[in-house]
Amino acid sequence: MQYRNAQVIVDLHAIKENIQLLKSQLPRKTEIFAVVKADGYGHGSVEVAQAALAAGASALCVAILEEAIILREAGIDAPILVMGYTDPAFSGEAEKLDIQLTAFQLDWLEEAKRHITQQLSLHMKLDTGMGRLGLRTVEDVSVFLDAVDDPLFNVAGVFTHFAQADAADDAYYRYQEAHYRELIQPIKQRYQQSIIYHTGNSAASMQFPSDMYDAVRFGIGMYGLYPSIYLRDHPPFELKPALSLTTQLVHVKQLPQGEMISYGLTYETKADEWIGTIPIGYGDGIQRRFQNFDVLIDGKRMPIVGRVCMDQCMVKLDRAYPVGTKVTFIGLDKEDRITLEEVAEHLGTINYEVSCLLTARLPRRYH
Ligand code: PLP
Repeated sequence: MQYRNAQVIVDLHAIKENIQLLKSQLPRKTEIFAVVKADGYGHGSVEVAQAALAAGASALCVAILEEAIILREAGIDAPILVMGYTDPAFSGEAEKLDIQLTAFQLDWLEEAKRHITQQLSLHMKLDTGMGRLGLRTVEDVSVFLDAVDDPLFNVAGVFTHFAQADAADDAYYRYQEAHYRELIQPIKQRYQQSIIYHTGNSAASMQFPSDMYDAVRFGIGMYGLYPSIYLRDHPPFELKPALSLTTQLVHVKQLPQGEMISYGLTYETKADEWIGTIPIGYGDGIQRRFQNFDVLIDGKRMPIVGRVCMDQCMVKLDRAYPVGTKVTFIGLDKEDRITLEEVAEHLGTINYEVSCLLTARLPRRYH
């Protein structure tokens, strides 16, 4: 039951269209793995995963084992890869639920073996320049190949992650891509069986589709969001944003000049002003830095005035509006749209972070 009139609305058709659009750009053999970590970048992992699979994604990627278990518990039986580090003590749980784990450490393999009964599927992680997780040299890859050559393990894939594929300058992307080609040589020699080679995130798969191998890990772009301001301004193709955040005015009043608004007295009315109260705040992920940013009411931009409170904030209206009038924080209202990229620029961060910050207190609705 939803009692409050404030919600994140997710357009699952937009998610499907973004997947189909990327698919049309990629080589025919390249599959799409839908990245639904962090509760689907705040959009809801189960609903997004189901939509992505229906649109042609062949597998799902998450960051941690809990996220994979949520998908299995929802009845999703597609392949799932946990891309981050999983404690090897839990490799038995992963095996039981047919969840693929990421591996790159010899000790990890030794410990994992103690918990596996038949066979665990792994993707080897190569660190080609991100400096985060993975094997970094051909020698380390060769040693790892010997260790993983065990009936308890099935090497299902080999991947790397780009640190910068979203900029105008592609030099570092090229460097990592070349390093990947070098690191996979011993793997190609060792394995005749089919292994899924994958490198690209949204930025790489959008900018360099013909470089992609057997699969791409499509995250931010699937949600209709651009991986960087550079790609927003130079899009290889137009994405369709899936997320809107709407609420309503719950109180409207006219105040004379010189009245104070909210904690800390940071806003004083300059003349007779119509002030509206909105029932969301930083407890919903609308941080205090939203102060002075705009919302859309009746298709027009109106500024948030005074400090944002935990559960409420105030907006300066251009006239009286009835209680119940729709307020759009993110999304389209008539002719104007507030994008997550625009919000992120105001907050001094990136769209990825803003959508993740929208808390569970905001119900997600799907259409
Ligand atoms: N692959 C890995 C290893 C990641 O960590 C991420 C997300 O950060 C992705 C793929 C998806 O990236 P993006 O959302 O930029 O498409």
